[in-house]
Amino acid sequence: MSRFVCSVGECLKPRVARGLCWKHYARRRRHGNAEVTKRRYKMPHECRYCGVTRPDAFYPYYKSVCKQCRKLKTIEQSSM
Ligand SMILES: [Zn+2]
Ligand SMILES: [Zn+2]
Repeated sequence: MSRFVCSVGECLKPRVARGLCWKHYARRRRHGNAEVTKRRYKMPHECRYCGVTRPDAFYPYYKSVCKQCRKLKTIEQSSM
């Protein structure tokens, strides 16, 4: 194990402070723990029309309105 890389798990960034890379150093200062690397990728988003929060109710690229409401919205808009 190299002494010149970040001491966090699989991080291979060059260490800059206290055995950590900048990213993890900043993270540790912020969270008190450099290992908080797991991003919560599946943030529960909520449809702003019906309030559904099931991740599978959403398109991956469109998070504020669920599939259902998006469809309805599109119909509404096109019929106006
Ligand atoms: Zn690091
Ligand atoms: Zn909805």
